[in-house]
Amino acid sequence: MHGYHRRNALDLAIAFGALSLAFGLIELAGIGLQLWLLIGALVAGAGVLYSSWRLAFLDALTGLPNRRALDETLARLSGTYALAMVDVDHFKQFNDKHGHDAGDRVLIEVARQLAKTPGGRAFRFGGEEFCLLFRRPDGAADACETARMNIENTPVALPRKPSAKSRKAPRAKDKQRTVKVTASIGVAQRDARRRSPDEVLKAADECLYKAKEKGRNQVVS
Ligand code: GH3
Ligand code: MG
Ligand code: MG
Repeated sequence: MHGYHRRNALDLAIAFGALSLAFGLIELAGIGLQLWLLIGALVAGAGVLYSSWRLAFLDALTGLPNRRALDETLARLSGTYALAMVDVDHFKQFNDKHGHDAGDRVLIEVARQLAKTPGGRAFRFGGEEFCLLFRRPDGAADACETARMNIENTPVALPRKPSAKSRKAPRAKDKQRTVKVTASIGVAQRDARRRSPDEVLKAADECLYKAKEKGRNQVVS
């Protein structure tokens, strides 16, 4: 779905660039060939720039900014902030039980919930791990608790199994099966002891480890 829109924007920009040659030849809207070619080149160029920016900095599955975007953001950051590491609980088991496609759906839904976190910016760190960046550390732990509850309470629709009978039209009795997952979260903030982004991330990771140890589906800060 994301891919379709991304490709579409680039295709449209390049198509417009090509069309502007024709527009220029008939001097559409009283604008001459040279100006039309300039407009066409600018639009096509902007389309290429935009789509390569998306390729570089957005995660293809969830649409969230990716690890590279996080690294760049952290490198430019000054002052105080808090980082949260979010990790889906027992996700390997989930994949083994429900399949990789269902796992992908879970990641998309977890990403959607995390993107709603008040005061936090969500990134996909990699695999089933996400990161939240809070510019105001004070509310971070509460916001993470909200995110954790949202994930716990959101049902995810499993992909339908194409059975022999219901291949054509899904019947009413083929009820959509849903599942729920939980996530553990570790939060740490930048302070005198932890000055570099790596140190803050490491501290958040240690808190995440504690949250797992204490039984998962919880926030440790
Ligand atoms: P824990 O509660 O300790 O975090 O257990 P876990 O099973 O979640 O931890 P582990 O790190 O062992 O497993 C992570 C799994 O996440 C392994 C891999 O199958 C799955 N995974 C990673 N990336 C993706 C992805 O993009 N899609 C899907 N479907 N699964 C993924
Ligand atoms: Mg993990
Ligand atoms: Mg996990």
